Amino acid sequence: MRVGMGTWKLDTATAADDIYNAIKAGYRLFDGACDYGNEKECGDGVARAINDGLVRRDDLFIVSKLWQTFHARDKVEPVCRRQLADWQVDYFDLFLVHFPVSLEYVDPSVRYPPGWFYDGEADIRVANVTNQETWAAMEGLVDAGLVRAIGVSNYQAQTLYDTLRYARIRPATLQVELHPYLQQKELVRLAHAEGIVVTAYSSLGPASFVELDMDRAKSVTPLMGHPVINAMADKYAKSPAQILLRWSTQRGLAVIPRASEPEFMAQNLACTSFQLDQADMDRIAKMDLGLKFNQPTNVLLVLEHL
Ligand code: NAD
Repeated sequence: MRVGMGTWKLDTATAADDIYNAIKAGYRLFDGACDYGNEKECGDGVARAINDGLVRRDDLFIVSKLWQTFHARDKVEPVCRRQLADWQVDYFDLFLVHFPVSLEYVDPSVRYPPGWFYDGEADIRVANVTNQETWAAMEGLVDAGLVRAIGVSNYQAQTLYDTLRYARIRPATLQVELHPYLQQKELVRLAHAEGIVVTAYSSLGPASFVELDMDRAKSVTPLMGHPVINAMADKYAKSPAQILLRWSTQRGLAVIPRASEPEFMAQNLACTSFQLDQADMDRIAKMDLGLKFNQPTNVLLVLEHL
């Protein structure tokens, strides 16, 4: 499946309808996470679509992610079971380690989702748990039949290579931020050489981070509005979003754009219905700025000083 739908920042008030409408529009893959705080509502949308006979469970491909506070071996399965209950399904098709950073456990009865901060405000507490311990517990989820496949997210080359040294079950996918301003060429080459599927997130570039009022995102030319992308949109009679998504899918990547608007949902799903010519692929390849937007900088600054 080349095109799925993202669920980060889907409002809890509308997420169930968004998922239901997306299924009606033809989406089959959904990308969720504990951290998005809307898994229950997304699950309501799935349940309604199944009850209405639009799809069966096995027509869908549901992805979720393990949050950092649950990396210890005894915490992985309980939170996965909770997330399955939220989605109202008895297995995930794919479960990802969200970030390769372990944080101190926060009991779900205290706060769920727990987020980055131990106290919910500013206190970063790193836990003494290795990625190897977490991966073994992820493999245990496959053994227990709770998930069909496991993968990683926000891993760079070193972490990915390290995982491959000890993995009994190899990561099926790598999900990373990827758009024309952050093309990740070496990482994609490495993952593909290892037979790992790469999923691009935030494929539309700064748009998702302008929503968060992020200065770095507001300071660059929006990709959906960039003269190069707009010219291609005119040439192919497609929207700028479709050009961006087609550039990724033509590189052999999966994409998971998020949309609530029916016309955006339809456009995004149809992004593989045309072909960019090589000159246009090459032109977009020149737009790389190495510009990453999804950087929890405050957290990384703390980690750098450990
Ligand atoms: P995105 O690149 O999908 O952009 C979403 C924004 O673009 C929204 O404002 C939406 O309204 C708008 N948009 C969508 N389709 C459009 C269209 N056809 N025309 C015009 N505007 C359009 O951003 P995202 O949500 O950051 O990324 C997609 C998904 O990737 C997320 O929802 C989430 O599931 C996943 N993700 C994962 C991680 C991770 O750490 N693993 C991080 C970020 C996102």
